[in-house]
Amino acid sequence: LWRFWGPLSALSKVYSQVLSAMASAERIFEVLDTDPEVKDQTDAKPLKTIQGSVVFENVSFRYGEDKPEVLHGVNLQIKPGQRVALVGPTGAGKSTIVNLLMRFYDATGGRILIDGQDVKDVTLESLRRQMGIVLQDSFIFSGTIEENLRYGNEDASDEALMRAATSVRIDKFVSAFADGYHTQVEERGSKLSVGQRQLLAFGRVLLSDPRILILDEATSSVDTETEQHIQSALQTVLEGRTAFIIAHRLSTIRDADLILVVQDGRISEQGTHDELLKIDGLYRKLYRTQFEMQQSLTMQTGA
Ligand code: ADP
Repeated sequence: LWRFWGPLSALSKVYSQVLSAMASAERIFEVLDTDPEVKDQTDAKPLKTIQGSVVFENVSFRYGEDKPEVLHGVNLQIKPGQRVALVGPTGAGKSTIVNLLMRFYDATGGRILIDGQDVKDVTLESLRRQMGIVLQDSFIFSGTIEENLRYGNEDASDEALMRAATSVRIDKFVSAFADGYHTQVEERGSKLSVGQRQLLAFGRVLLSDPRILILDEATSSVDTETEQHIQSALQTVLEGRTAFIIAHRLSTIRDADLILVVQDGRISEQGTHDELLKIDGLYRKLYRTQFEMQQSLTMQTGA
């Protein structure tokens, strides 16, 4: 399904560093704060509580002085609560865009504003506390299921925890474990299926309630029932948040308020599904080659 939209490679790289650090129970923000790429400015202020608007003003970026520029003058205006799907070929710059938004790197040109506040001027901790992230193979660290859920909001009440767990439908499988929420899970442990890990990560988002969510939609195949759970949990998780989704599923792309087609470090087309289909561009081409083909296959096999 939409294999063409490759994985979030750059982001996964940063996250694998985070993962190994998490094994020693560090908090993610502290870990990322030690990332030499990006530091708080001496006069950095906390990001004020946000609604979730995002503006990119002529943003360009290269991964190093001797590296080629990979984003060239990207402009974006996203309103609070908008669902944005990023699509485009592997290597086009989708993960780089979200890397910059989370400030894993600083833009080399232009500005990124969240609710009018330049991400370079605010503390990393306050920035990342107001953002949630769910990656393809959702990150789980060694600890109990409860610790994994509470991550990002340690002070949540037990009631809120249960509510989040029920909303994302993990309550059933968790209570099937002898130790319930106290069950130990491992970073790459086999106790949880890919789908369950994804649902657990959704539960974490609900509990920490960030205004901005970054999501790399999983491509791994899961059984039909889990898939349905993931789709309905996804709707719950997206509700009321600005979301940047590296989208792999056509349904997610079609439902987005705004589709950004990223091509060679530029936004080459943007609009809704219907708007983009009217343009003779990459989106329409990909839709035709990838989706209509898939549909006719489905019809032939009756699947
Ligand atoms: P996408 O997410 O659309 O697949 P990326 O944003 O990962 O694309 O990549 C955009 C470009 O930046 C590619 O040419 C890629 O090779 C390059 N790139 C990504 N991450 C790094 C990195 N850490 N160091 C150097 N180049 C990178």
